[in-house]
Amino acid sequence: MHRFLCALLAAAVSVSYGSQSPRGNVSLVVTGGTVVTVDGTGRVLSSAAVAIDGRDIVAVDAAAAIAQRFTAARTIDATGQVVLPGLINTHTHAPMVLYRGLADDLALMEWLQKYIFPAEARTVSPAFVRAGTRLAALEMIQSGTTTYADMYYFEEEIARATREAGIRGVLGQTIIQFPVPDAKTPADGIARATEFIRQWKNDILIVPAIAPHSMYTLDVESLKSIRAVADRERAPLIIHLAETADEVKIARDKYQATPTEFLDSIGAFSGRTVAAHGVHLTPGDIKVLAQRRVGVSHNPESNMKLASGTAPVPALQAAGVAVGLGTDGAASNNDLDMFEAMRVAALLHKHTSNDPRALPAASAIKMATIDGARALGMEREIGSLEPGKRADLILVSMSAARQTPMYDPLSHLVYVTRGDDVRTVIVNGTVVMQDRRVLTLNEKAVLDEAAVWAAKVREAVK
Ligand SMILES: [Zn+2]
Repeated sequence: MHRFLCALLAAAVSVSYGSQSPRGNVSLVVTGGTVVTVDGTGRVLSSAAVAIDGRDIVAVDAAAAIAQRFTAARTIDATGQVVLPGLINTHTHAPMVLYRGLADDLALMEWLQKYIFPAEARTVSPAFVRAGTRLAALEMIQSGTTTYADMYYFEEEIARATREAGIRGVLGQTIIQFPVPDAKTPADGIARATEFIRQWKNDILIVPAIAPHSMYTLDVESLKSIRAVADRERAPLIIHLAETADEVKIARDKYQATPTEFLDSIGAFSGRTVAAHGVHLTPGDIKVLAQRRVGVSHNPESNMKLASGTAPVPALQAAGVAVGLGTDGAASNNDLDMFEAMRVAALLHKHTSNDPRALPAASAIKMATIDGARALGMEREIGSLEPGKRADLILVSMSAARQTPMYDPLSHLVYVTRGDDVRTVIVNGTVVMQDRRVLTLNEKAVLDEAAVWAAKVREAVK
C-alpha cells in the first residue's frame, strides 16, 4: 500500500513538473487589462497581465499565459482598464502647489516680483516645503505620476516627504546667486547640495541631484563649481534653459552667445544634464544638446500660460534628443496632471506646425514615459513595462461616457483621459493607491495642512 502511494505521488509530481516548466511564485500579478508596454516595438496587449516579484517586473504576456506560469501572492484585476508605465514628470517645483492660483494672467516679471518672490521670501521653510511636497505627492499619485524631477529649496525635506509617499524623485537642490531661504550665497547652496547628494545617493526611490537655477541667475564661477560637484558625486544636473526670449537677450548681451552655446563653452553639459524648457533654441543649439546628450523637459502648459513661446520639440526629437514632458510648478500650470500635459503637447505642436500629424498620441505617451526616463538617464530602470525593469505602473479606468467607445487605447490616453481616471498606482512593486484610495498618505491630513499654509501665503502677499 505504502509503495503504491509513493508511486502514485511520483506520477502526480511528474505530471505537474515533468510535462511543463514549474510555476514560479511572484508577489503580485496585475491581470485582465489592456497593457500598453511602451517597449521597443510599442506592443499593446489586450487581456494581458504583468507579473511582478518584489520591486521588479518579471513578465508581461497574455493573461492566460501568465496564469499558467506564475502563482501570485496577490492579484489585482485590471479588467476594463488600461495598464501603462507610471508617468514621469521631468520638471516641477513640488512645494509650489501651495502657490497654486495665487496670481494668474500676469506678465512673467510682474507675476514673479509682486507675488511669487515675496511669497517665497516670507513662507518658504522646511515645514512649508514638507507640507507642499505632501500635497504635490498626493496629487501626483492621484493622477498617475510615479517619478518626478524637482528643483527647489530644502530638497532634503522634499526627499523625505517623497520617500514617505512612496514615489520616485530626481531631486535637485536649487542654487541661485541671490540669498534664498536655505542659502545666503551660491557657495552655501553648493555645500548644501553636496551634503544632500551624499546623504541620499543610495536610496531606492530618490536620485539626489544639483540644480543651478539658470545661466542668467548664476555667475560663471558658480556654474563651473556646480558642474564639478555633479561630476565628482556622479549626480544629475538640472537647469532651466532658454525658457524665454529675455534669457536669450541676456546671454547675447553678457556672453555674445546663446544660453546653450554659453553653457557648453564653460563645460556645463559635460555630464548627465536635464534642461527644462528649451523654448528658444537655434538649430546649432539643438546640435549641441544632441551631441552632449542633454535631456530636455518640455513644459507646454507653463510655456503657453506664461506666453514664453513654443519649444521646437519635433526638431529636438529628429536630432535624437531625449525629450520628456513636465508640468513645471503648479504656480504656472496650475496642476501636476501629466495626462493634461500629454494632451496639450499633442495639440500645441499640431497647431504651431499647421500639421495634424505632428506629435501623434503614441509619441506623447512615449514623452510621458520612456523618453522622460531617457531624459533623466533612467531608461534602464523605468519608463516601459518590460521584464527586469522596476514595477512602476498605473491602472486607468476607461469606462466613463467620455471614454466610450474605445477603439484605440493610445488615442484615449492622450485625447480624453484625465488624471482622475487613474485607479491604481504601483511604484517599485508596492501598491501606493488602490481604487483611488492612497495608501501612503493621509489625504485629509495633507489637505488640512495645506489649508493652514494657504492662510499664511495669503497674508504674505497682502
Ligand atoms: Zn521651472
